Amino acid sequence: MSKARRSNDWGFPRWRGYGSGSAAQPVRMCDRAGCTEKGDCPAPKSPNSPERWYFCQRHAAEYNQGWNYFEGLTAEEAAEREARERSDNSGYREAAHYGWAGSGDGTRSRDELKALDTLGLDPDADFEAVRKAWRAKAKEVHPDVKPGDEEAAAQFRKLQVSYEVLRAAEERREWKG
Ligand SMILES: [Zn+2]
Repeated sequence: MSKARRSNDWGFPRWRGYGSGSAAQPVRMCDRAGCTEKGDCPAPKSPNSPERWYFCQRHAAEYNQGWNYFEGLTAEEAAEREARERSDNSGYREAAHYGWAGSGDGTRSRDELKALDTLGLDPDADFEAVRKAWRAKAKEVHPDVKPGDEEAAAQFRKLQVSYEVLRAAEERREWKG
């Protein structure tokens, strides 16, 4: 098994020339590990995050199933809804950057609270606890541990997104000092 195909290469943008022969434009590949389809379905990494995964249609659908917030929506609808919410809540965006105050004082965003809940943590859990919970829970449902188990795969993606939300919040907090 080549290293690049391991499922832990998620999160790294994958680019390559699309189509063989002709002057290949670089085209974004699906971010799902091992997938060689064109990644033209943007999927928010979290409901209020400007960051996007880019998946093929099949994986975008799978990804969205793993994140209940977008359940039943197509990737496009999900992205649209997310963009709308972000503009509607623009007044709160600055406040969200101060999230993760560490004391459960209500400064955490809804996404962070949901992510903490997914990881089985209290609202005032610190990032070390997040890291531990993510590692422990992800290990149980990792595709390497449960190959071909769709339910486990969906749970794994949900945990992964939750961790990503909380990690991003932690980074924002560090930048702000
Ligand atoms: Zn794909």
